[in-house]
Amino acid sequence: MAKIGINIATGSLQQQEMIVGIDLGTTNSLVAIIHPDTKKPVILKEHDGAAMVPSVIHFGEAGSISVGDEAKKSLVTEPHNTIFSVKRLMGKSYNDVKDHGSFFTYKIIDDNTESLVKIQVGSRFYSPVELSSYILKELKNRAEHILKTPVTKAVITVPAYFNDAQRQATRDAGKLAGLDVLRIVNEPTAASLAYGLGLRKDESKTIAVYDLGGGTFDISILRITGGIFEVLSTNGDTYLGGDDFDRTIVKYWSGRVSLTDEELQVNKNLSQELRLMAENAKIHLSSNDSFKGNVAGYDFSLTKEQFESLIKDFVERTIQCCRNAVQDSGVSISEIDEVIMVGGSTRVPLVKKEVAVFFGKKINDSVNPDEVVALGAAIQADILAGNNKDFLLLDITPLSLGIETMGGLMDVLIPRNSKVPSKTGRQYTTQKDGQGSMRISVYQGERDLVKDNRKLAEFNLTGIPGMPAGLPKVEVSFLVNADGILVVKARELRSGIEQSIEVKPQYGLTDEEVEKMLMDSITHAKDDMQTRALVEAKTEALQLIDATTRFIFKNRSFLTEPEISQTETAIRSLKEILETGTKDEIHRSIEGLNEISRPYAERLMDEAISKTMKGKNIIN
Ligand code: ADP
Ligand code: MG
Repeated sequence: MAKIGINIATGSLQQQEMIVGIDLGTTNSLVAIIHPDTKKPVILKEHDGAAMVPSVIHFGEAGSISVGDEAKKSLVTEPHNTIFSVKRLMGKSYNDVKDHGSFFTYKIIDDNTESLVKIQVGSRFYSPVELSSYILKELKNRAEHILKTPVTKAVITVPAYFNDAQRQATRDAGKLAGLDVLRIVNEPTAASLAYGLGLRKDESKTIAVYDLGGGTFDISILRITGGIFEVLSTNGDTYLGGDDFDRTIVKYWSGRVSLTDEELQVNKNLSQELRLMAENAKIHLSSNDSFKGNVAGYDFSLTKEQFESLIKDFVERTIQCCRNAVQDSGVSISEIDEVIMVGGSTRVPLVKKEVAVFFGKKINDSVNPDEVVALGAAIQADILAGNNKDFLLLDITPLSLGIETMGGLMDVLIPRNSKVPSKTGRQYTTQKDGQGSMRISVYQGERDLVKDNRKLAEFNLTGIPGMPAGLPKVEVSFLVNADGILVVKARELRSGIEQSIEVKPQYGLTDEEVEKMLMDSITHAKDDMQTRALVEAKTEALQLIDATTRFIFKNRSFLTEPEISQTETAIRSLKEILETGTKDEIHRSIEGLNEISRPYAERLMDEAISKTMKGKNIIN
């Protein structure tokens, strides 16, 4: 029986439990919901207006744990038991992070370098999943306190480059915090949603999402077509952000008053205060021209120009990442329709300016950069709750997924109604000698010809080493993970080269559209079957023409004149029939060509074998 909740704050009935959207950030985390009355996404705020929870966990003497602003106060004074930036450790082994060992002021266990990292605080060990769950629990508690109702369902965002292990770790952290994580969403996708991008079915746009946070920089190029978000490329630097701005200010100031690193090491309180004041100065300079302050009797000042020259190199590094991302995406800068700004550090005017210059267009920063990801997560949560009927998000694949094979046929890898997650693979090969690349086109739908289905994505597997046709083995695998993300991977098994792409196949299709696609496939089933048979006959004919032509070219000197001319005539007539003939006519013509070539093919084969037996001509 369904339970009806009563919101004790407002007295109103609640039909359905709210699903919250969570931005679990490296530096700050926050929660948003769709307001039940206005239907607009809003950030949950305490009465004092505080919305952001610093992603910092402090372990106190008597086993107490605090999260957020309170914990942040201990960052410098109690570095060993104050954990920050735990997001960087999610799904990582010690080997993954050892190059950045000095970054972490707390103890990361290094005894087993392959397995997932653990953090030691006092005599206890914590996994990044556990630590993240403390942050999520704090967010959950706050949300419940503000909403006056239990919160058990959430959508959580992660960077677009997070791999499966990192996504799974985030999911686990949610579970540990008592949250049912309905979906993991890419941060740039959430940000786009908050900007209202991708919400219309007829829309097609290329977007750059520039996200400069406290400690990390991400740039993603997305393509949105008909509600499907495709990540074209990502780039960035996981050790570059607003914290670096703060540190250069501290360095600059301590230089001015001749404070040495050693003095700052010893005097933790002073360095803590300096750091906090540096952050204040930076924030102040985002809307003012100069800053003045005093710490422990020292006077400090900073002008906007001084600040900009201090951070110039950092900003330039982000632009270089943008350049790489654009290059990898395969689109040109002029094709990018929108540049949206995400993360607190994009408030710095120099950052905005340089990004606009690089992309050659006005940037879009109309949504609060601290809040934009969480707001988008709330929109996604609302779609999942079924409140936004324009979207269909299911846990089964509503339509078949496959790739295009010879002749424009649909080769289904994951049939419709497969349970998610789901995984399959199949081997393909090349059609031409020395073929160096293979186009993988991914389609969704029930029809036999891809042209009647819906194209989701396309990419080229390039760099296949030169080999005769039919020799390369290209394994194409499809994985639809629990978050509805389809990952298509193509790998040439002999050389090991590999390429992959991610798509969201369920995005943007309404119930009616799915229904129509299914109905069409039933209505056209008979036609489709005939078309498929014809296409297959044509494909076979083309392959035979190609193979025979090559055979004659290579072995001309072993063949008689009549053999060659008969074969050429048969090839010509097969080519003619190909154009207009029925499937049966094509099959007959194929047989005709085979009958002519079979005798000399067999003769040459026998000769080759007998030579081999005499040890004269060992093949290979
Ligand atoms: P993350 O995504 O890493 O959790 P945020 O997006 O919350 O991080 O960004 C936090 C960073 O933004 C901090 O370094 C903070 O100092 C910086 N920041 C916040 N407001 C401003 C501002 N007005 N001007 C410059 N930097 C700011
Ligand atoms: Mg962020």
